Amino acid sequence: MTNSVRLSGVAGSPGIAIGPVWRFDVTPSTGAAPGGGLVGTGSPEAVIRAAATETARQLEALGDRLRGLGRDAEAAIFDAQGLMATDPMLLDDAVRRAADSGDPVEAVRLAASSVAEMLAALDDEILSARAADVRDVGARIGRVLRGEVLHLPVVPSIAVAEDLPPSVTAEIPPGFLLGIALSGGSRTAHAVILARSLGIPAIVGVDGLLGAVDGAGPPASAAVAIAMDGETGEVVVRPSHRLEAEFRRREADLAIRRADASRLRDRPAATADGERVMLVANIGTPADSGRALAAGAEGVGLFRTEFLFMSRQTPPTENEQMEAYRRVLEAFGPERPVVIRLADIGGDKAIPYLRLAAEQNPFLGVRAIRLAYANPDLLLTQLRAIWRAGAAAGVVPHVMAPMVATAADLDLLLSLRDQARETLVGKSLPAAERMVTGIMVEVPSAAFLAPELARRIDFFSIGTNDLTQYVLAADRGNAALAGLQDALHPAVLRAIAGVVAGADAAGIPVAVCGELAGDPLGALVLVGLGVDELSADAGSLDGVRAALARATRPQLDELAARALAAPDAETVRELAAAVLGGVTG
Ligand code: PEP
Ligand code: MG
Repeated sequence: MTNSVRLSGVAGSPGIAIGPVWRFDVTPSTGAAPGGGLVGTGSPEAVIRAAATETARQLEALGDRLRGLGRDAEAAIFDAQGLMATDPMLLDDAVRRAADSGDPVEAVRLAASSVAEMLAALDDEILSARAADVRDVGARIGRVLRGEVLHLPVVPSIAVAEDLPPSVTAEIPPGFLLGIALSGGSRTAHAVILARSLGIPAIVGVDGLLGAVDGAGPPASAAVAIAMDGETGEVVVRPSHRLEAEFRRREADLAIRRADASRLRDRPAATADGERVMLVANIGTPADSGRALAAGAEGVGLFRTEFLFMSRQTPPTENEQMEAYRRVLEAFGPERPVVIRLADIGGDKAIPYLRLAAEQNPFLGVRAIRLAYANPDLLLTQLRAIWRAGAAAGVVPHVMAPMVATAADLDLLLSLRDQARETLVGKSLPAAERMVTGIMVEVPSAAFLAPELARRIDFFSIGTNDLTQYVLAADRGNAALAGLQDALHPAVLRAIAGVVAGADAAGIPVAVCGELAGDPLGALVLVGLGVDELSADAGSLDGVRAALARATRPQLDELAARALAAPDAETVRELAAAVLGGVTG
């Protein structure tokens, strides 16, 4: 006898998933280990040594699992960390400190810091990289001591959490994540974007979710199953046989609908009266290229390179980055442009090893291009890697900077771009002849400045996720503001119309790479407003192509005019749905 609980949230990424819960929680575990961690279960020395052994075991298991999946480079990081966890120098120092202070958690942290500082001081690139690893190992031992063990799923599971940091999502081996259900978050949260790129469902803002799966802490979580529909936002905790059968039926229906829409893939996207619209893909890693090409993407409109910086202990080197970009450029070839976005770090995309200062309002803080004023090396390394990748692949790379807000930000971008090339030329290293350069328009000031900025660059790409949060002052991660996070709000559409006008005057194209571009109704409105290119997750391209094929240019022009004058996003959705004949895709 099951007690099914039906809940609802905001649809984040389409698809159906049915499976056991994997509960991610940053607070002390309440499941398998009553009383939390090892602290207090023995002498400080005994608990430190036991926690270190357990940490080493977890790291080795993670390495083995990644190796089994062919992710050898990542596996090697965890293998090395497994050895560090039981390193006598680290443990003896921690035990000594704990004997003085009686606080094993703080003792391990201080011992790890002291080893890390020693390594960092050696002024050797490889050893200073290990410093961050030692600190991370110290933090992991601390988590075991406190009972805050991060168990990755051991069977394919649905992640349930209040929020799921992108770095944690990235650490879960592919195939082990069937879907993501969050009690917090928003449909443009990065965990959701990652879900779309993995082709798995995600639902956010599910009230009552954590309570309903209560007792599902690791590792007993496998006992609780949930079913979710990423299109309707429904979540059923402990589904009955009848409900499970219903979700299986939906899964089959969705597969049929997807197969129908995919029949248009061989043709370029166009309106019903034959006007072409460039349809390209958003990707997060080189491995996403195959899925994007199979979905008929005519290129990449947004390569979110910050994912290359996650799930690791140090930034990727210039050579590692060069290889990653070259792989994507070669996969798409000279006919299909690839827009590489410079690392968008900050906001909800924290990279622990960069140790950026904590901020009260990270979304309004020293984020993305702003980081490069004080610390240009990160972007210079990235730009050199892109110049080299273009030369190696024999194509002209396209690059854009996130979060450009002022003319000074654009000056910085252009000067770093040129400086990176000069360095390579100075060392006689091959670099592409030129770099097509654009900016993301996602800060309202950039939208206001569009006419001036447009004259100095090759293209605009509008990031409607951030533009919406900044225009409407609604944190994109705050589920309580879901009603304000619809990019079809006429205020956002007016900003987009201004950007298109500025671009038209300068003769440059405008793309949209925020989530609105992958929403069939959003795509109609955007093309109506004069946007030239839509960039969305591979899984959304079929739906957008099908929607465009059902509307003519005059219909889209009228839709755009009415949308700009509409009172709210809901009305805009109704207007767009009417163009599709009431089918909302
Ligand atoms: C956006 O803000 O719309 C965007 C595409 O960038 P990100 O979602 O990565 O912030
Ligand atoms: Mg953005």
